[in-house]
Amino acid sequence: MLHATRRHVLVGLAAGLAFGPPALAARRTSEDLSGVLAPGARLQTLYSGGRWCEGLCWAPALGGLVFSDVRRNTMSVLGSDGSVRTLRDPSRNANGNALDAQGRLVTCEHRTRRVVRAEPGGELTMLAERFEDRRLNAPNDVALAPDGSLWFTDPVFGIRQPDEGLMAEPEQRARRVYRITPGGAVEAMISAIDQPNGLAFSADGRTLYVSDAGASLNPEAGRAIHAFALGPDGRPGEGRRFAEPDGGAVPDGLCVDGRGRVFAACTHGVQVWEADGRRLGRIPTAGPAANLALGGADGRRLFIGQGPHIHAIDLAG
Ligand code: MG
Repeated sequence: MLHATRRHVLVGLAAGLAFGPPALAARRTSEDLSGVLAPGARLQTLYSGGRWCEGLCWAPALGGLVFSDVRRNTMSVLGSDGSVRTLRDPSRNANGNALDAQGRLVTCEHRTRRVVRAEPGGELTMLAERFEDRRLNAPNDVALAPDGSLWFTDPVFGIRQPDEGLMAEPEQRARRVYRITPGGAVEAMISAIDQPNGLAFSADGRTLYVSDAGASLNPEAGRAIHAFALGPDGRPGEGRRFAEPDGGAVPDGLCVDGRGRVFAACTHGVQVWEADGRRLGRIPTAGPAANLALGGADGRRLFIGQGPHIHAIDLAG
């Protein structure tokens, strides 16, 4: 359904070549993000001890920012004092994390190809592992919907990349977005995206955004962010192409701030759009950004997982 063209590939290559020295790129923002970032805000690096930091989730009850290191096969918590505490080792190549409506941590695991929930005592409850009697591909990212259901993406990356899980042939016929109802049913919601990866709900709960990272496996495939209006029953409508990152970048993790602005972790940094799709700019990072979370004491700190690093930058109110 997505129409990557030769031009996109060429633009991507050109952007890759034009991307400046990492040290410089990491210190400046491009274009006009003055309405988005707090005055004088700069990218700060909080952690650099990882391999592939993902699954960022602000969880004060757990001590700060939960994150997965997919390739080190661990999960940790980064405290506001800079301390890092191991949460799971091994993590079964955990990726996306979210808190459910009761504040319990929900995690996508590549290695087991399931979604799990941590109970207050620490034991894990399996929430999703199969659909129509076939194993899921490799749940990637998860988000809490306003009605208490949990939505997750199921692309093939975790069964295609040897350092991120166990290699296998997909059993599912599609790479879908699913929801887990509060009653525990696993339902297919979206099947029309090539490789659904990041997902996020708007603050008003009416729109679901899903990134397509198909182009990271096949340059001719999709790399757009899609928006789905949610009906009164909580189900998504037809969907529309919301935006496509500049510079041939491929989007991964998403988040939406209280004003409806959409942030996407992309190949060359974090790209930002207004809710109406108007592009605002990019926060450059020195390598591919994979995941995002809003958090901090006032909820205005944007955390960014980028390879071995976790960065943060403060947003305007
Ligand atoms: Mg992802």
